[in-house]
Amino acid sequence: MTDYDIVIRGGTLVGPTGSIAADLAIAGERIGAIVAPGTPLTGARTIDASGKRVLPGAIDVHSHHREPGFTHKEDIVTATSACAAGGVTTSFAMPNVQPPPNTVERLDAMIALYEQRAIVDWNINAAGTVPDQLMGLASRGIAALKVFMVVDTGRDYPHMPGIGVHDHGKLLEIFEAVGETGLPLMVHPHDQALMAHIEEGFWKRGERDALAYAKAYAAYDGIIWDTAVAVLLRLQKATGTPLHLLHTQSEGVIDQLRAAKAAGRRVTAELNPWAVFLGNDWPTIERLGSYALSYYVPEKNTEPLWEALRDGTIDLVSTDHAPHTREEKEPGWTDGWKAHTGTPSTQFYVPLLLDAASAGRITVERVVELVATAPARAFGLARKGRLDVGCDADIAIVNLDAELEIRDEIVLSRIGWTPYAGRRVRGVIDTTLVRGRVVYEVGAVVGEPGWGRQARPSA
Ligand SMILES: [Zn+2]
Repeated sequence: MTDYDIVIRGGTLVGPTGSIAADLAIAGERIGAIVAPGTPLTGARTIDASGKRVLPGAIDVHSHHREPGFTHKEDIVTATSACAAGGVTTSFAMPNVQPPPNTVERLDAMIALYEQRAIVDWNINAAGTVPDQLMGLASRGIAALKVFMVVDTGRDYPHMPGIGVHDHGKLLEIFEAVGETGLPLMVHPHDQALMAHIEEGFWKRGERDALAYAKAYAAYDGIIWDTAVAVLLRLQKATGTPLHLLHTQSEGVIDQLRAAKAAGRRVTAELNPWAVFLGNDWPTIERLGSYALSYYVPEKNTEPLWEALRDGTIDLVSTDHAPHTREEKEPGWTDGWKAHTGTPSTQFYVPLLLDAASAGRITVERVVELVATAPARAFGLARKGRLDVGCDADIAIVNLDAELEIRDEIVLSRIGWTPYAGRRVRGVIDTTLVRGRVVYEVGAVVGEPGWGRQARPSA
């Protein structure tokens, strides 16, 4: 007779406040016991984690899965396969799909797709653009509502009609309506009026390529980000609605966050991996053009961003995983405004962060807080983000002594490329479990579409 379904032996369990050598046993979908190494326990299966770290699976609250509507880029199966391989056990989808989930009917249709197709746990950040729909949307188990302040100029994706609002009065109305739901509001900050003037200047000078596009978004030391965040923080103060700020990347925003947090305001902020691993390196932007752009984050911001990650000013890291095909990136060489913005990262962001830990930029424990514990806390996932008895057995077993060579050939996203190709990082995902079931091991996704369940917040 066996006591447990799976016993993970010989590993070091990592939590936000420390690491301990311990064996972990799983009963059904939950963690059933955590005991001293070598304690007699029987399991139907034993996983040897000797020499490895056992982490709570990453919770990515910001990912673009592209289904429905843009499945030539990515779909729920390919996105959640990449999650499984990357140690991500819960992934929240963003609403810039077609049709966007800005009504209850559309959200319900999207939920039905995820119930059939997701390999890891999931949720959907519905579009918070239609105030009279918000209570209905909130009743469907979602953990947040999302608004983009950006409305694209010169292209119709990734920020299409129905998901964007930059009028301040309309934003205040949305903050008030979201406040009634009790959910946090996620916002992509962007000052469209300033951007229009900045873009005009570049275009008048005939500067349109990917490098001009990169510079436009970083112009005046990140002014479009700083002023948008100032407005959002003021709207948050006026309404009390919890605000989750996306795309933290400038010193100006870090300063505002510090002040807001010191004042006890209900604000959380995320960093996306491109801000410190990709878009902060100008030679890489010159080499890859639009393929390296989410956004250009001038290198002077890099150390302040790491400092904000270490000291808690930035609460969490989520990916902004944004796959686009090569055909959609190529036009950027001549017109950066025609290329679709965003970079894929869900498969490799945990290894990139573990590599940074190996290099001494941050501790492994803080990485666990940033990718798992903090997102679970911020979005009300009471049984996730920690390795404690009774929690969901969402686990990533990682080898910090092994190197991963990132290559296009191992990319599981439908697009088949990664801007991180060619890098060697210390930190390999060995095995990923979602609610007690192995979904990735020995280099292969073994999870099945439909296993993933909606990760609902528990009030
Ligand atoms: Zn995004």
